[in-house]
Amino acid sequence: MVMQSDLVFPFRTGMRLRFPGPLPRAADVVVIGGGVIGVMTAWFLAERGERVVLCEKGRVAAEQSGRNWGWVRKQGRDPAELPVMVEALSIWDGLPAAAGADLGFRRTGILYAAKTPADMARYEAWMVHARAHDLDTRLLTKAELDAHLPNAAGWIGGLLTPSDGRAEPWIAVPRLAEAAARKGVTVVEDCAARALDIAGGEVAGVVTEKGRVAASRVVLAGGAWSSLFLARHGVRIPQLAVRATVAATAPLPEFHSGAASDRDFAMRRRLDGGYTLAPGHFHEFFIGPDAFRNLRPFWTVIRADMTGTRLLPAAPRGYPDGWLTPRRWAEDAVTPFERMRILDPAPNRAEVERLRDRFGRAFPQAGRPAIAAAWAGMIDTMPDVVPVIDHVDALPGLTLATGMSGHGFGIGPGVGRVVADLVGGRQPGHDLHRFRFARFTDGSPVVPGPSL
Ligand SMILES: Cc1cc2nc3c(=O)[nH]c(=O)nc-3n(C[C@H](O)[C@H](O)[C@H](O)COP(=O)(O)OP(=O)(O)OC[C@H]3O[C@@H](n4cnc5c(N)ncnc54)[C@H](O)[C@@H]3O)c2cc1C
Repeated sequence: MVMQSDLVFPFRTGMRLRFPGPLPRAADVVVIGGGVIGVMTAWFLAERGERVVLCEKGRVAAEQSGRNWGWVRKQGRDPAELPVMVEALSIWDGLPAAAGADLGFRRTGILYAAKTPADMARYEAWMVHARAHDLDTRLLTKAELDAHLPNAAGWIGGLLTPSDGRAEPWIAVPRLAEAAARKGVTVVEDCAARALDIAGGEVAGVVTEKGRVAASRVVLAGGAWSSLFLARHGVRIPQLAVRATVAATAPLPEFHSGAASDRDFAMRRRLDGGYTLAPGHFHEFFIGPDAFRNLRPFWTVIRADMTGTRLLPAAPRGYPDGWLTPRRWAEDAVTPFERMRILDPAPNRAEVERLRDRFGRAFPQAGRPAIAAAWAGMIDTMPDVVPVIDHVDALPGLTLATGMSGHGFGIGPGVGRVVADLVGGRQPGHDLHRFRFARFTDGSPVVPGPSL
């Protein structure tokens, strides 16, 4: 059952601890990070009979996984992700029963609305992938779009995938963690992983702020913190993060039950009767040392389109790529991970006001909406806008599942299943070549996925 209190944006410093521990001294696998990727990886590992410890430095789902738009989509994805995403959707179908909870998952469709012929051309180009994967995606004429969205915004057509869905991020991921705990996963919050314990060149466990856990296999699913964690061990991934602002309207009459966007704004119906709104094509990038280090791999995306990116000179204190954030630390000292239990960026208030204007203009029947809550999240991204899902050869025992690049919530259950099988030495069932760790060092060109 969904309680009224579940419907309010919940994440703040000092919030209640759901998973206090204690921390076991040994496990088969330690998962670092309690977002959707870590939680679903732990879930599937436990189903395969592994003893799993999941360490979360703050609160489960309190970073990206609880702050996102709640879109569960195949539409617009990189073709290499589509098989995993198709599987993820079928996992989502069974998750409410498996978790014994309403996760807000509904297959209410994903709709993109085109303002210009160039938008329509991009949608049309993506149809190649939809056909190749036998999806129910289709292009919409203006008249067909009007039937889905009462049209005052000058849209000329659209792209629709009726079988895509939506879910409630800050309800779903904590509930999934509770269900994973019932399957035997030991979830421990306020438990920063400070470093890998390395013996003889191989992973032997994890050093956390609550002590050491011996384990020969570790999964790093640390979201926007992954590259900082890895760099201390001499492992580099070109990962950056951008701030994305989100707002929740107060309840409104339902005129669209799914999720829809154009280049100006995105919206998604919520269980409480409001809409989650966000800018369609705007985010903010705090310049830090990693921006310079990763300029070369990111050059292709920078050249392609920076119109939606606002540059800011420095991140607030303690952010993963802050100018003063330590890059080295001792295992017995407080680390940047414990100093920032929850990465909780302030939303851009001016952008929230613009969102209200755009929504009001697009849907005059709903009017300029009252805002119940606004927040922001730091989206971790890779230069080719697809994740890293791979073992790290230089550190046997370590597997990465990070860099979900702004679309890891919907695919999370599929990625969790894949990573659990990778860690267990089984065939992952999908071609993971595009997600390999070595692509940034083996001379491969950076080929960004479709940004739809
Ligand atoms: C505003 C916004 C909108 C988005 N919209 C969508 C959407 O509609 N659909 C979609 O599919 N995706 C969306 N995304 C992307 C999606 O939310 C992410 O890709 C996904 O949640 C990433 O999950 P994760 O588990 O990798 O990372 P996170 O959810 O960020 O979790 C990582 C966790 O690791 C913990 N951690 C880090 N370092 C350590 C350490 N050393 N020790 C212990 N714990 C550590 C962190 O505290 C954090 O809780 C959106 C993201 C944002 C921010």
